Amino acid sequence: MSAQHEAGVTTTHRVVILGAGYAGLSAAIQLASRVKRSENVRVTLVNAQEHFTERLRLHMTATGQELAELSIPELLEGTGARFVRGWVTAVDADAKTVRIDDEHVLPYDTLVYGLGGVADTAAVPGVEDHAYALNSAQDAEALADRLARLGRGTVVVAGSGLTGIESAAEIAERHPELNVVLLGRREPGAAMNPKAKAYLRSALERLGVRVRSGVEVAKVLPGAVELAGGESVPADVVLWTSGTRVSPLAAAAGLTVDEHGRVVTDATLRSVSHPEVYAVGDAAAIRQGYGVMHGTCQGGMPTGVHAAMSIVRALKGKQPKPFRFGYYHTPVSLGRHDAVVQFTHPDDSPRRVHLTGRVAARYKETVTVSPWPTWGRMKKMPASGAFWPRGGRFTRAGAAR
Ligand SMILES: Cc1cc2nc3c(=O)[nH]c(=O)nc-3n(C[C@H](O)[C@H](O)[C@H](O)COP(=O)(O)OP(=O)(O)OC[C@H]3O[C@@H](n4cnc5c(N)ncnc54)[C@H](O)[C@@H]3O)c2cc1C
Repeated sequence: MSAQHEAGVTTTHRVVILGAGYAGLSAAIQLASRVKRSENVRVTLVNAQEHFTERLRLHMTATGQELAELSIPELLEGTGARFVRGWVTAVDADAKTVRIDDEHVLPYDTLVYGLGGVADTAAVPGVEDHAYALNSAQDAEALADRLARLGRGTVVVAGSGLTGIESAAEIAERHPELNVVLLGRREPGAAMNPKAKAYLRSALERLGVRVRSGVEVAKVLPGAVELAGGESVPADVVLWTSGTRVSPLAAAAGLTVDEHGRVVTDATLRSVSHPEVYAVGDAAAIRQGYGVMHGTCQGGMPTGVHAAMSIVRALKGKQPKPFRFGYYHTPVSLGRHDAVVQFTHPDDSPRRVHLTGRVAARYKETVTVSPWPTWGRMKKMPASGAFWPRGGRFTRAGAAR
């Protein structure tokens, strides 16, 4: 494989991947496995923690359930990728460097930006000061600690999206002594088919979760949540799951970002302003025929793999190919023994088919553990990572809606 050639001298091509979440790790494992025999490509993965944060299970961490410790260096074993633990504090897109912990500078030739996204705790006054979030394992552990010490009281889960539903159900199941209220603009499971939505609703009722939809939180206060219109809902604990916010680093570096701060990519996942930067996962604004992708692990992993494949193509002097992805399911856990899995069309609209109950719970668990066998296979057989649903007619060129 040819890297950069300057006056006949081969230099090492440095690929730095920021963020070891589902997308960044997929990119690192796919790329490093494909280039491990080449001495001219060096892959470095940077992440704040040495342990992989299983975001898909943060609602379990938040209710005191112990998770397996997954070491990122161990996950990279055998690939040849280097791991750097540290907090990325700046990206200099002109100098092509990344600053880590304000101290170290890491130069790159190609950057993969995969710093993920978190709930938007800045959108409503009082959230930062009086609410918990599931933005990191530490956040989830702090909530678990608080819930364990609460005794009796009311937990308000703000945000009726999938994280809010899973969290409310998990808290109600693990802490039957607490009142759990799920507040949000939309009814839970609004995007599901009527039967799946009805099942979801009855499961929340069975668990004792009180649902209030069609409401807007205006403020979070110590001991209460104030709704638009002035009504006050008493709350001993508030969990904020609403909205999405991304790291300000991309915008500060001068990369073109959308209104949420996500890196705007071209069809091949390169930044539209800086083609030596690829953006993946929740940190990227990736347009498909049906619209801009929303943050999921099911879509995030393919973006990482695709970015890696594009980098390999570019290193060989070939054009990267367009990325295409179609959704196929929305699995939602309802405690440990129940779930709803809504199968979807590639544009994420619901199909008629769905699963409920224990079968759905097993399905959800299989999905949650699926990254490990996927990464294990990719290490041995990198091409195995290249299989994901491409969305058919929903994502073919010219399928804009
Ligand atoms: C409770 C819950 C349940 C979910 N369930 C599902 C589900 O069932 N199915 C599904 O598809 N999706 C689900 N999601 C969404 C899914 O977790 C995200 O879409 C996915 O994690 C995005 O992957 P990512 O790699 O883009 O980002 P992340 O997984 O968030 O990884 C980003 C990484 O970057 C690191 N990082 C961020 N900033 C810095 C910095 N400045 N310096 C160094 N490191 C940094 C973070 O620590 C993290 O390790 C769920 C989310 C939650 C919270």
